[in-house]
Amino acid sequence: MPMQPVKHVVIVGGGTAGWLVAAGVGKMYQGRVRVTLIESDDIPTVGVGEATIPTMTAYHKLLEIPEAEVLKATHATFKLGINFKNWGEIGEDYMHAFGQVGRVFWAGEFQHFWRRGRELGLNVSFGDFCLESVAAKRGVFAITENPALNYAFHLDAGLYALYLRNFSEALGVVRHEGKVEHVELDPNTGDILGVRLARGETINGDLFIDCSGFRALLSEGALKTGYENWQHWLPCDSALAVQTGRSGPAVPYTKATAHGSGWQWQIPLQNRVGNGLVYASQFADREWADMTLRENLSGPLRGEPRLIEFVTGRRKLIWNKNCIAMGLASGFLEPLESTSIHMVTSAVIRLLRLFPLRGIQPVVVKEFNRQSKEEAEGIRDFIILHYHATRRDDTPFWNYVRTMPVPDTLQHRIEMFRESGMIYVGGDELFRHNGWSQVMIGQGVIPKIYQPIVDNMPDKEIIEYLNGFKNHVAKSVSTLPPHEQFIKRYCAFE
Ligand code: FAD
Repeated sequence: MPMQPVKHVVIVGGGTAGWLVAAGVGKMYQGRVRVTLIESDDIPTVGVGEATIPTMTAYHKLLEIPEAEVLKATHATFKLGINFKNWGEIGEDYMHAFGQVGRVFWAGEFQHFWRRGRELGLNVSFGDFCLESVAAKRGVFAITENPALNYAFHLDAGLYALYLRNFSEALGVVRHEGKVEHVELDPNTGDILGVRLARGETINGDLFIDCSGFRALLSEGALKTGYENWQHWLPCDSALAVQTGRSGPAVPYTKATAHGSGWQWQIPLQNRVGNGLVYASQFADREWADMTLRENLSGPLRGEPRLIEFVTGRRKLIWNKNCIAMGLASGFLEPLESTSIHMVTSAVIRLLRLFPLRGIQPVVVKEFNRQSKEEAEGIRDFIILHYHATRRDDTPFWNYVRTMPVPDTLQHRIEMFRESGMIYVGGDELFRHNGWSQVMIGQGVIPKIYQPIVDNMPDKEIIEYLNGFKNHVAKSVSTLPPHEQFIKRYCAFE
């Protein structure tokens, strides 16, 4: 059978995912592909998802979205990393910052030099060698050439979807408001032919993007793609989310604080704070979650906490037939490392690169699915690491995650790091050496040895080098203004 060229893309769902896809395809295939987005005013978006990672800046550049404009429109603040408190042990904390820690030598990564320095009596935290980590802790930020900080944003999810909607519609994306009630399949091929709205209208298309959120209307509801459940590794399945007013200056980082049977996020925006408690319902009930959340909020409540339930895992095929699942429809990993929105943008870029303009080729679908699986599994392992590499034994929850078997890929990584100080990452993995080493060390996985090549540097030189680098970081950061001062100058919304 001849291939059908893809001329009309139909996106179902107008949350952050739907509009990110519409903006990406609308911009890059403008004039060559029709883009239609369907969303229902009666079905709210998930309403959370406000912390991002630095790849967001690259997506905006690709789409030529003016940064200051989108930050102003979404009441955004800057983010240099995530502060993890009480994860390794109660009372400990560390920063997983977005930047480079120390410098990478041909001889080995920086952790080996840091490890040797410790042995020589230099008691300096790993994060003190990272610009972003030190700037975050001091609450300073600026976009400058020197020092150049790697950053992301905290933004208002509802306002962001609205911004992207206006952006997409200006590119010619057509929005239909209405509830999809029926998905029509081709009886011969099983492909999706069209979606029927409650008011009776049917919208046909060549390629469908399922951005309908946890419902996964097309990929699961119609195509029965199947779901791989990862709850045995990531037992949290519920979140209570609530907004509060501000109680102090917005810090340039996300806070992730571990509690007895879960953890809490705090995401500062210019005008409010997004909060939530993620927990495992098999270890704690809603009453505990509600109480724990309220006890640990700093500003005045804005509304009542809202329960969101989820199943951690992923759709078995992200691209199935002529339908691609993106956003929550494709699966869910808890927001511990703020990766969900990134996974949408990375899926869009994958689609833009492999776009089936001349028709859907099975080999391309297979490659798309292979890349999606590899990406999700790498992120999954990274998130599991935060739970598993703990010394906490104060509750059944922590005893479970500390002692549970983890994926072989992760087990190998932890052992490699603990025994040899080495980390290997695959070419397409999101988290690189800097991320893995900061979280391993932050969680208390300290390499037993350093690579012997470090001994090529005399002890005195190592100490001088480490002290010099730390002082250089501190000096560079001392030139930066307070975070809020920079926001006022660059992207304040009022
Ligand atoms: P939704 O926002 O649920 O949108 C679904 C859309 O589908 C809506 O427009 C709805 O109207 C439409 N729809 C559904 N059914 C129909 C129908 N029958 N007919 C027509 N339209 C329909 N991500 C991050 O990157 N950082 C974070 O900090 C973060 N925190 C999170 C915290 C929690 C507790 C959760 C659950 C998620 C978090 N995420 C985070 C993930 C992030 O929220 C999502 O990836 C992002 O919002 C995209 O959601 P979505 O667009 O896929 O789904």
